[in-house]
Amino acid sequence: MSTTIALGTKHGKLAQIAPAFERIPEWELTLAEIDTDEFGTFSGEIPRTLSPRDTAIAKARAGAQLLGTDYGLASEGSIGSHPQLPWVTSDHELLALVCVNKDFVIVETHLSADIHAHKEDVNENTNLEQLVAHLDLPVHAANILYNQDNDLKVIKGIHDPKNFIAELSKLREASVQNLRVESDFRAMSSPSRQRNISACAEKLVTRISTRCVGCNEIGWGKVGYEYGLPCRGCGQMLASVPHSEKFGCVACDYSEVVSLGQHSIDPARCDFCNP
Ligand SMILES: [Zn+2]
Ligand SMILES: [Zn+2]
Repeated sequence: MSTTIALGTKHGKLAQIAPAFERIPEWELTLAEIDTDEFGTFSGEIPRTLSPRDTAIAKARAGAQLLGTDYGLASEGSIGSHPQLPWVTSDHELLALVCVNKDFVIVETHLSADIHAHKEDVNENTNLEQLVAHLDLPVHAANILYNQDNDLKVIKGIHDPKNFIAELSKLREASVQNLRVESDFRAMSSPSRQRNISACAEKLVTRISTRCVGCNEIGWGKVGYEYGLPCRGCGQMLASVPHSEKFGCVACDYSEVVSLGQHSIDPARCDFCNP
C-alpha cells in the first residue's frame, strides 16, 4: 500500500517534484491546489511574513488538511544574494515534508547560482529589444510592475517578446509611475528555477529513503555542523570553523557526528595569525 503525500501548490510544481519520487513508488504525490499566494508572492503585492522554512511548512500543512492526508509537502524559493558570494544572485530552494500525526518535519534545501534573474527600471530611454534579451524572453517570463493611483500593479508571466514590448510602450506613453520589469520567478515561468526545484526534490527523496538506525523513522540526514578547530600556528581555537558534520533524526534524539578529516587549520585562515 502506498502513502499519499499532498503537494500544496498553485503554480504547478508537480512536474519538477514528481520525477524524483519515482525512486520511491511506495509514496504517492497528489496535487492539493491551495492558494499559495496567501502566503506571499515573489512580485511583492502580498508580503511574505514568515521565513521561507515556516512558509513551506504552513503550505505543506494546508495541503495535507485540504486532502485529509497524514503527509503534506510544499516548496518555497528565495532569490537573492548568495550567502558566500554576495555579488552573485542565487536561488535558495527549500522543500518541507510534514507528517501531521507524528508531528515531524523533514526540510531539504538546494542553493544554486544557476538562476536567470534580471530587473530594471524602465524610462523613455530604455532599449526594449535589449530588455527582452536580458530577461531571456520567451524562454523565461517577465513581470511588468508600476504604480497607479497609489496602488502597485503587476502584469505577470509575459513570455512573448512582442506582447511585452507592446505593453511597455503603452504604459510608457500613459506616463505611469515607477515603471519597472523583473524576471518572473514563479516555477511555471522560470525553467532555470525548475531545474533547482528538481535538484532539491532529489535530495528530499534521498532523505525520505534513509531511515534512522535508532528508531527506523524516515528522514535521517545532515542537520548541521560541529564547530571549533585549533590553529597550527598559535593554537587558538577558532569557533567558526567546522570540524564535523552532524547527522540526526526527525523523530528521536539519536545522532551521529562524522569528522570532516581536519584536526587543525592553516595559520593563513587564522583570525589571530592573519587578521
Ligand atoms: Zn593562529
Ligand atoms: Zn530516530
